[in-house]
Parts: sequence; structure tokens; C-alpha cells
Amino acid sequence: MLYKVVAIDGPAGAGKSTIAKLLADRIHYTYVDSGAMYRALTLAVLDSGVDLQDKSRIIEISNNVDIDFKDKSIYLNSRLVDKQIREERINKSVSFVSAIPEVRKNIVNLQRKISMGKNVVMDGRDVGTVIFPEAFIKFFITASLEERAARRCIELEGSGYAVDLHDIKCQIEKRDYIDSNREISPLKMAQDAILIDTSGKSIDEVLDDVLEYIRLRGGYTDVL
Ligand code: C5P
Repeated sequence: MLYKVVAIDGPAGAGKSTIAKLLADRIHYTYVDSGAMYRALTLAVLDSGVDLQDKSRIIEISNNVDIDFKDKSIYLNSRLVDKQIREERINKSVSFVSAIPEVRKNIVNLQRKISMGKNVVMDGRDVGTVIFPEAFIKFFITASLEERAARRCIELEGSGYAVDLHDIKCQIEKRDYIDSNREISPLKMAQDAILIDTSGKSIDEVLDDVLEYIRLRGGYTDVL
């Protein structure tokens, strides 16, 4: 049997993971959060006290780290780290770790390995361009910077954090800048990806659009 990959790329805070999770549930595919893996590695780096400038130590950690998903949770060296990887210190550091070419090589290998023998919906920055250039269908999900920052503020406030819209906007802009300008596999839309701008759209509207594109491609007659 041929397994299918639905690739969802786009900038930070565009709603990729929300859509990817709902989509995966709906079409009975496995959801793989590729960004969570860079976040887990970043946690390993910060916890071991390694300086973010020390590329060779970071590469060494990426050579030896054990990152895995079980029951929709992520484990770093067998430790459940769903919460820790979402902390602000990770948001601020992850793009430096993920920009190192050797680190990307290790993580991309792992991302392919984790997806083997399954139909997957994977979200990230380079899913359609590098990890799975042969993906069955590719989406590039984006939204205006204002809207992405506003959504992130609402999310953080909902979790009890005091937030400043301007700070959040600067942080998202900085992360996108580093992700889009790194030397290898920068954030960019694959030539054959479908662009979806979620500004002003509800989650349900975006999900319906995505499902319709998949349906048009004859993509889930085998799973529904
Ligand atoms: O998707 P998320 O915002 O959790 O990703 C965190 C970071 O991981 C991104 O800002 C980026 O630096 C890195 N990333 C990446 N390639 C991916 C997914 C995430 O470089 N496929």
C-alpha cells in the first residue's frame, strides 16, 4: 500500500497545527508536529546549559537525543515534555537551533522515520519542500502578522499569562525572519503548494477549504 502525506507549511502562529490536528482526526491520518521535534531538541540544549552559539555541542546533542511521539504526546529521552516545549525560552531559542544544517539533517531523518508506514498530516516549515517533496498534497497556511500576533495573545491570556501584543508581534516577526533566511531549508512555499490565507477566517472555514482540496484530488475515498 502507498502511504500518503499531507504537508502543511507556513509561518509561526498561522494556525497550521490547529488545522493539521483537526484534519488528521477527520481523515484518520496520524498527526506529526515537526516543529515540536525542534522544540524538544532545543529543550535538551537549554537544559544541558549549552550556549546557543556552541554549534558543535548542539550538533552532538542532536546526534544522541531520543525524541518520540506516543499517544499524541512528545517525549524527550523518555520524559514527557508537551508543556515544557511551549515555554517562552523555547520560542526565543528554537530558530537558532533549527538553523544548524547538521541538526536539520538529523531531525529530518527522524521525521521521515516516524512517518514510515503511516498516512500522515505533518505541519512545519519545510515539509513540502524538503521532508516530503513527493507529498500527496501540500498547503501553505498563512495569515497577516497582526492576526497571528493577536491570536497568540488570546491563547497566552487564556493560559493565564500577562502578554504584550507588541512584544509578541516582534517575537513572531523575528522567528519568521530567521526561519525564512537560514542557509538550508528556509521557510518557503513549495511551488506546488496551495496557498491558504486564514486572516479573517474561522477554523471551520479553513478546515472545510482544506478538506475540499483533498476531496478534489481524490484523496480520501480510501479512508472515509
Ligand atoms: O511549528 P513551530 O512554531 O512549533 O516550530 C518551532 C520552530 O521549529 C520554528 O520556528 C522553526 O525554527 C523550527 N521548524 C523548522 N522546520 C520545521 C518545523 C519547525 O525549522 N519543519
